[in-house]
Amino acid sequence: MENFDVAVIGSGPGGYVAAIRSAQLGYKTVIIEKYDTLGGTCTNVGCIPTKALLDSSHHYAEAFHQFEEHGIKLGSLEIDFPRMYKRKSEVVSKNTAGLDYLMSKNKITRLKGTAGFISDSVIKVTGNHESIEITAENYIIATGSKPSSIPGVLIDKQRIITSTEALSLKEHPKSMVIIGGGVIGVEMASIFSRIGTQVTILEYADHLIAGMDHELGKSLQKVMKKEGVDIRLNQSVYKTENSGSSAKVFFRDKNNTESELEADYVLVAVGRSPYTKGLGLENTGVELDNRGCIKVDENRRTSIANIYAVGDVVGGAMLAHKAEEEGVLVAETINGQKHQIHDDRIPSVVYTWPEVASVGFSEEYLKKNNIEYNVGKFPFSASARARASMDTDGFAKVLVDPKYGEVLGVHIIGARAADLIAQAVIAQEFEVTAEDMFRISYAHPTYSEVLKEAYLMASGQGAINI
Ligand code: FAD
Ligand code: NAD
Repeated sequence: MENFDVAVIGSGPGGYVAAIRSAQLGYKTVIIEKYDTLGGTCTNVGCIPTKALLDSSHHYAEAFHQFEEHGIKLGSLEIDFPRMYKRKSEVVSKNTAGLDYLMSKNKITRLKGTAGFISDSVIKVTGNHESIEITAENYIIATGSKPSSIPGVLIDKQRIITSTEALSLKEHPKSMVIIGGGVIGVEMASIFSRIGTQVTILEYADHLIAGMDHELGKSLQKVMKKEGVDIRLNQSVYKTENSGSSAKVFFRDKNNTESELEADYVLVAVGRSPYTKGLGLENTGVELDNRGCIKVDENRRTSIANIYAVGDVVGGAMLAHKAEEEGVLVAETINGQKHQIHDDRIPSVVYTWPEVASVGFSEEYLKKNNIEYNVGKFPFSASARARASMDTDGFAKVLVDPKYGEVLGVHIIGARAADLIAQAVIAQEFEVTAEDMFRISYAHPTYSEVLKEAYLMASGQGAINI
């Protein structure tokens, strides 16, 4: 039986990063993945393909709605749906090929099959035709998550689908109802509404992207409504039906008024659950919490000392970059290094247009916990850069401690918010004050100046630039 220093189960951003860092540190490493390609949800059916389709559909929407004003005349404009999806698949393939290269470059052994513990110290890898047993000094579980559903909603993958099936559709849908106005819901709604699909979002909460500062969701709602998305808040879905060539969805509002809708597809986006099926955890002392997440300590060590777990399977923010940080943390912990991840300084990004990005505390959290704060808020409509590019929707809001100037939270909806949030993460991680943030030089004209103005305003000064 072959013995490794580190065995990583699952090859998503948690697993592949843990494997690469382990190998870099000199450990004999194996990575086990049950699918043909490496990269997990993020690379194959998550972050990467959605961003490819979001970019394609954004170009189309710009050509449709803005080019004329820029003085660019086009002939007829149409979507080549199969070509758009083919490009998406090509982007995914380039990323999975990049991972293949990194595995061989770092001399990581790759096994294809489902890994299951048969005891705390042995795993069995079951492939299509054979199975083998291996041992390791340390195990890192990175098996990710799968889409959740709700009572009465059976995901049949034909008409009642998840984001995974939506990323492989063969035909351009005419209509789609999306259950859930969270991150997946609004990104999927953007892709399809931009290319002409009639999209309805049914959301249980009273605003979109409910996990973020509420002003972001409210502002996003206005933009998406302008784009033609039918957004129905305070709705609870209780049943779906596949009618063959379409699907029906049944829902009720807060007053119990019942309604139904029919569409080509119903896309279920009501959250994701940790995935531990087939892992054989019952043969180990590894414990789960009441949501089915693997219980870990701050070093992502499970209840068994040499078994670690990272990424979606341990819960918290289900984000690729959080999984990656945890992968590095575990490899370096095994190596005796001491690091820490600040969970509250992990940024969240939604890739609609304008993009939405956030780090730190929301206003609702600060209010609820009686924490004092000053607000600095600056609109993109007052930015020269945003006016030049016709991207004037949105704002940057910074929340600052009134006494010390510590940056408590930064919330942006606006052009390139996904990239702008990085500087706010630095400010928080290194406890830089709002004054420090506005005294540094920002290139002009850039979207980043919106943040400079917001820091100025949160510090009691007026805006100084446009
Ligand atoms: P995963 O990426 O889920 O990988 C787990 C892997 O383990 C899978 O390949 C699985 O096949 C394998 N596996 C499971 N069990 C076994 C077993 N027993 N044996 C062998 N292999 C096994 N996050 C972002 O930060 N940015 C985004 O833009 C973003 N967009 C997203 C869009 C969509 C549509 C979705 C669904 C998710 C998105 N996410 C995004 C979330 C992101 O994909 C996840 O947070 C991330 O993939 C989690 O990484 P992971 O390594 O924990 O697990
Ligand atoms: P989510 O938790 O973001 O949103 C689910 C939404 O469904 C919630 O707003 C909830 O109120 C609503 N809902 C629940 N039950 C309902 C019902 N019966 N009727 C109507 N609405 C209902 O989950 P998601 O959008 O499925 O995303 C899953 C995970 O994937 C998230 O944790 C997210 O972090 C990750 N993800 C991240 C990105 C990104 O970083 N850009 C993109 C996609 C997915």
